[in-house]
Amino acid sequence: MTKPSILSCEKVTVAFDGFKAVQGMDLALQPGELRFLIGPNGAGKTTMLDVVCGKVKPVSGKVTFHAKSGSIDITKRKEHKIAELGIGRKFQTPSIFAGLTVEENLEIAMSQNRGVWAALRTTAMKKAERERIDAELSLIGLGDQRALRAGRLSHGQKQWLEIGMMLLQEPEILLLDEPVAGMTDKETEKTGELLQEIVRKRTVVVVEHDMAFVRNFASKVTVMHEGKLLKEGTMDEVQRDDRVAEVYLGR
Ligand code: ADP
Repeated sequence: MTKPSILSCEKVTVAFDGFKAVQGMDLALQPGELRFLIGPNGAGKTTMLDVVCGKVKPVSGKVTFHAKSGSIDITKRKEHKIAELGIGRKFQTPSIFAGLTVEENLEIAMSQNRGVWAALRTTAMKKAERERIDAELSLIGLGDQRALRAGRLSHGQKQWLEIGMMLLQEPEILLLDEPVAGMTDKETEKTGELLQEIVRKRTVVVVEHDMAFVRNFASKVTVMHEGKLLKEGTMDEVQRDDRVAEVYLGR
C-alpha cells in the first residue's frame, strides 16, 4: 500500500506574461522519496520547484503540504512562510558565508532556529546544538574542514556545506536545483550518497540534467515536457517510453 503523500500539486498552471511555462501539472511525493524531475530545457522543472517553495504563484491549481502537523494549502503562502513550515529550497549558486569557517556557517544556520528563546538556552541545549552540528559535519563529510574558511572549499564541498546548513533548518522537504552541476565524478558520487542518507529522514526533489547521476540514484523519475507531465516511473520505465525517447533522449 502506498503511503499518503507529503506534498501534492494538483493541476498547477504557471503563466509568465501569458506564456504557460507549466500547464496542469500534477506531482505527488511520498515521504522519504528521492524524486528526480527531468526533461529538456524549458520543460518547466525549475518553475515547479519555484511553485512549491512559493517563489512563483500559479494562476490556477493547488499545492498542499501534508506536514507532520497536518495538511496545509500552501498555494498562496509567502515564500518565507513555506520555508518556516518545512520546505527548503537550494538554488544552484551556494549562499554560504565565504569569510567564515565551515563550522561558523553551520552555527549561523543553527541559530536561525532559535527564535525568541535564544537568550534562555540552557547548557544542555547548547550541548545538543553542538552535537547536532558535529553530526551534520560528519554527514556532509566536512569534519576535517570545520575550521577552514568556507570560501576555500572546493565547489562540491561548498554545495555540501549549504545542504548541511539547510538541514539544520529541519526541512521535511528539500528542493534541489542541479546539485551536481560542475562537480567532479567523485563529488557527484558523494552527493548521491549524501542524498540517499538525507532521505532516511526527509523527502528530496532534485531537478537534474546529469542522466548518469539520475540513473544511479533515482527510484522514481518525473519527466516534464512543455510544461506538462510526460511520464512518471522508474528510470527503466521512463527510458522505455517512446515519447520520452522522442522529446528528451533524442532517439
Ligand atoms: P526548466 O527548468 O525545465 O529548464 P524553466 O522552468 O526554467 O524550465 O522554464 C520553463 C519556461 O518558462 C521556459 O520557456 C522559460 O524561458 C520560461 N520562464 C521561466 N521563468 C520565467 C520568468 N521569470 N519569466 C518569463 N519566462 C520564464
